[in-house]
Amino acid sequence: MELWQEMLRASVDSGKDLVERFGFDKELADKLNTLFHIRINPYYLSLIRYQGDPIWLQCIPDAKELEEDNFPLDPLNEEGDSPVPSITHRYPDRVLFLTTSQCSMYCRFCTRKRKVGDSGKISMRFIQSGLDYIAAHPEIRDVIISGGDPLMLTDVMLEKIISGLRAIPHVEIIRLGTKMPCVLPQRITQKLVRMLKKYHPIYVNTHFNHPWECTPEAKRACEMLADAGIPVGNQSVLMKGVNDDADVMLELMRKLLMMRVKPYYLYQADITKGANHFRTPVSVGLDIMDKMRGHTSGLAIPAYVIDAPGGGGKIPLLPKYVLGRNGNNIILRNYKYDIYQYPDVEEEDKAPEVQLERKFMRKRTKPARKKVYPKETVRADGQTK
Ligand code: SF4
Repeated sequence: MELWQEMLRASVDSGKDLVERFGFDKELADKLNTLFHIRINPYYLSLIRYQGDPIWLQCIPDAKELEEDNFPLDPLNEEGDSPVPSITHRYPDRVLFLTTSQCSMYCRFCTRKRKVGDSGKISMRFIQSGLDYIAAHPEIRDVIISGGDPLMLTDVMLEKIISGLRAIPHVEIIRLGTKMPCVLPQRITQKLVRMLKKYHPIYVNTHFNHPWECTPEAKRACEMLADAGIPVGNQSVLMKGVNDDADVMLELMRKLLMMRVKPYYLYQADITKGANHFRTPVSVGLDIMDKMRGHTSGLAIPAYVIDAPGGGGKIPLLPKYVLGRNGNNIILRNYKYDIYQYPDVEEEDKAPEVQLERKFMRKRTKPARKKVYPKETVRADGQTK
């Protein structure tokens, strides 16, 4: 058994553990464990500095999870875009391929709570149907292997999936969505990276939310991936009490770059049953973006996005930098709120911004299509007219 597997076996993973280690009331602990599984491996647990700190909030269950009845279990409508059980096919050229329900830590804010931790919902049985679906759709050129956490699979199983994808001629890019470099960096072994680098181009998207997660162990894991030629990007979730502060976010982004990880997305928290207490107003996210841009290198700035409820996909949000127009000049402000005018090249009515606005207005104001009836229609009384 490898070290990471031994560490997993030593996880806090039951209501009983919550009672004994953290003094939870038994009934509450059992309810929380039933709603969403508990697993905190010893490495991530060791990052907690005090009760209620940003690490604690992400991994220790909270009674608030039980109060959130009116929120959806599948906020992004992944099931609606799922042609076979393991695949979400939302965008034309790429798919999400769910390969396991297991994670080395069950994050309390997880969007996929409805499936994660339940091996009946994301099962090995579905993997072949996922590969078959991808093979039958030549428009798919990019596959994101996710879960759960795909690095919970053994190297042998993971290689079967990746080599299966590489055997499909139209699959160009393979991405792994994994939280392991952050929550259990011991999972990144030389054996694993030797296997992965055989199947380039491989990308890894990982998930750090707080600078305390950027430990020497995490740095080593990310560097091993980078040394194997695997670009590593990071997706953070904006969360109340965890990272809803510009200084914390700046420190996180700078530390990620030092670990050779490129900040990629900052997600507005989804509206998920049992995780709603993490949400912040959008103005908080915009303010953080405003305080980062210009105050650190553009390399450190992720795209702030809302994953549109119901399956609309990622929508980028930006603080307002374009203030208006003055004739052919665009009025802009910089990160210090100094105002500048940029003489535009296009004529006003051809400017892309104006074109976009018009396109949007046309869509919004499009009249309902007139229903065309055949000349002879049947009336309610059965007569034709
Ligand atoms: S690792 Fe990812 S899939 Fe697993 S619980 Fe955390 S956020 Fe959810």
